[in-house]
Amino acid sequence: MLRSRPGRELAIDLGTANTLVFVRGRGIVVFEPSVVAIEEQSGVIHAVGEDARRMIGRTPANIRAIRPLRHGVIADFDVTAEMLRYFIRRVGGAFSFARVVLCVPSAITKVEQEAVEEATLAAGARHVSLIEEPMAAAIGASLPVAEPQGSMIVDIGGGTTEVAVLSLGGIVLWESIRVGGYELDEAIVRHLDTKHHLLIGSETAEAAKIACGSATASTQDTQTDVSGRDRVTGLLRRMTIGSAEIRTAIEQSIMLITEAVKRTLEATPPELAADISSKGIVLAGGGALLRGLDERLTAETGLAVRVADRPLECVVLGAGSSLEEHGAWTTRHRTARLSRRRRRSF
Ligand code: ADP
Ligand code: MG
Repeated sequence: MLRSRPGRELAIDLGTANTLVFVRGRGIVVFEPSVVAIEEQSGVIHAVGEDARRMIGRTPANIRAIRPLRHGVIADFDVTAEMLRYFIRRVGGAFSFARVVLCVPSAITKVEQEAVEEATLAAGARHVSLIEEPMAAAIGASLPVAEPQGSMIVDIGGGTTEVAVLSLGGIVLWESIRVGGYELDEAIVRHLDTKHHLLIGSETAEAAKIACGSATASTQDTQTDVSGRDRVTGLLRRMTIGSAEIRTAIEQSIMLITEAVKRTLEATPPELAADISSKGIVLAGGGALLRGLDERLTAETGLAVRVADRPLECVVLGAGSSLEEHGAWTTRHRTARLSRRRRRSF
């Protein structure tokens, strides 16, 4: 195992929605949207992270603001590599980082694993190991992953929801569905289009979801304004929507999430299921912040459900703990020797 100074060890949560970087000894130093604004023809990068996110849906024809990770896999390898390089550079230091622990979705294929490893090495890392996201999330949520005890973690990210049962330092079973926060946003866009002939952007839909979205009727009803284009008149129009309407729009997607949880519970071996029924389910990821989702899952499963203390950060915090434990729980390991050719120093 490679030993190195604390400031040269990083944990990275490369999420479909947000990328977080944790530096050992410093904590979380980067928390930005996984978005890159790129010039189509030349491939020149205009902005990364928050700056690029503000450009989504607002770029001129020659520039595109894209999320290079869709559904937790690398849709565009080169852009992902550039984004990683940018975030790692932001961490500072005129040297290559010695060691990186990278969080990857459990549904990732071998080819995709190699792609993210390459991207990390290309971004200047000397050694990269992978940790499965549900494992990192569970560690970050302080679940007793090393114990012979079943724990269930449900990580609702931008592109995917991952449901996993862990015990004795391993993932016993998991399921990943391509339904996450973006799906809820798209559902709101579709609903307003069909019901009110109002065409809004996905960023507007996300803001409305965060402002007054909920997964149960028992949460307090609130309202928010959205603006978009009227499909009939072609003119700009503003309207007020409330929690109940958003709930109707996202119901189908919420059902897919609750069904995935129920399926996983049904497939869990009895001893572990008994542990989960006494300790409950933990929710992580930004989607866990949807009001009433915990309550809804309790109603559907009959189990106690709690949201992790820092749902958006717990994956990177868990991977950070793994750094402290010299790479405990990581799976694949690669050093830069093979890909030195591809490295750039900065
Ligand atoms: P990823 O791991 O895929 O990067 P995150 O765990 O960062 O995803 O979660 C991002 C998702 O969480 C987005 O779809 C975002 O809309 C959603 N989200 C963030 N805050 C809230 C909130 N308060 N209510 C509902 N959804 C939220
Ligand atoms: Mg995530």
